[in-house]
Amino acid sequence: MPVRPRLKNLWLRPVGAFEELFERSFAFAQDEDVFELLKTDSSTAARSGRLATAHGVVETPAFLPVGTQGSVKAVSPRELHELNAQIILGNTYHLHVRPGLDVIRHFGGLHRFMNWDGPILTDSGGYQIFSLAKLRKLTPEGVHFQNHVDGTPTFISPELAMEIQAILGSDIAMVLDECVPYPCEYEYAARSLELTTTWAKRCKRSVEAGLSPAKLRGAAAPTGRQLIFGIVQGATFPELRRQSAESLVALEFDGYAIGGVSVGEPEGEMVGAVDASVPYLSQDKPRYAMGLGTPPQMLEMIGRGIDLFDCVLPTRLARNGTAFVSSGTLNLKNAAFTLDQEPIEAGCSCPTCREFTRGYIRHLVKAEEILGLRLITLHNLHFYLDLMRLARDAVKDGSFDPFRRDFVANYQTRGSENGAE
Ligand SMILES: [Zn+2]
Repeated sequence: MPVRPRLKNLWLRPVGAFEELFERSFAFAQDEDVFELLKTDSSTAARSGRLATAHGVVETPAFLPVGTQGSVKAVSPRELHELNAQIILGNTYHLHVRPGLDVIRHFGGLHRFMNWDGPILTDSGGYQIFSLAKLRKLTPEGVHFQNHVDGTPTFISPELAMEIQAILGSDIAMVLDECVPYPCEYEYAARSLELTTTWAKRCKRSVEAGLSPAKLRGAAAPTGRQLIFGIVQGATFPELRRQSAESLVALEFDGYAIGGVSVGEPEGEMVGAVDASVPYLSQDKPRYAMGLGTPPQMLEMIGRGIDLFDCVLPTRLARNGTAFVSSGTLNLKNAAFTLDQEPIEAGCSCPTCREFTRGYIRHLVKAEEILGLRLITLHNLHFYLDLMRLARDAVKDGSFDPFRRDFVANYQTRGSENGAE
């Protein structure tokens, strides 16, 4: 779908002109069905569904390319549409630090600022505050920190996290949580979970009280309301995961994320954390595993009932010369590819594989030409997005289990990197 050119003139209008529309649409869409479960697999817990957002429907299972700084690295929104990306992720912390909310509000929200008219999910900033920022001080009220760019002292509370995401105008906002590191002692994880649960309540209350999102000048969703997802924490302790999931479900969020995974723990612990959370989450709400994963991990998690994923691997590894293919990963810097006239993957329909050889892309990467990392990024995003499409189709026609087994058997893991930006 081409990017609509409608935005150009609207940028010149005062942001306040949109307010009435937001108020109306907020009221209109509040009680719409947000998530429709289309099919549940008979031999695994995989599901296919439709998640309705203010900027369109997301068919699940779905992968969210990561748009850390209001940009999926090296890829334009037009290209994202061409790759059939349904929804992207924006990082609240990064956008809050730079360019800052005043700039994004001036442009009428993140969609208009970056010229992406599809759905956007924003994280709350919690993960980055706890992994990037300096001099953090955690209090029951919120968290004080100095940002990692210029050290400016900043404070974020659950209420402020919701207000910031309302100004960004994302379609799905996440609650503020404390993402504990791995490994983590039980006592700390339990205390932290208490705080995270209280913060989730405050996020929900602040939205319900009308502090955000629609009443805020500059909130940018043109139709429909901003959805809010709770985040299950509890580190590697099944009892804490269960408590967390149950308390969040009682608060009735629009969807539920599993956080504190893919933070350096062994894969078994990650699977355990998901297994300890999923049974206590509502069947009829979307489930999102944050920061996951490798292709086999995502299929494993789909089989355990997860619907949404975000991960920096396809874009980050591309910048390192690594491409995802059905047999695993290829390091295109290898000398073996110097004279290789094949595309990255035979039969791949991505723009890169239709036009360029491995040998040429290897040359670009070795010569540090920007085009090289762009071409691999396009292929890798296509690979991730297409894997989700194949998984959706397989769930729909009842063949998910053999599809997953075949894929995993064919895919050689050669060491992987995990992580979120
Ligand atoms: Zn390709």
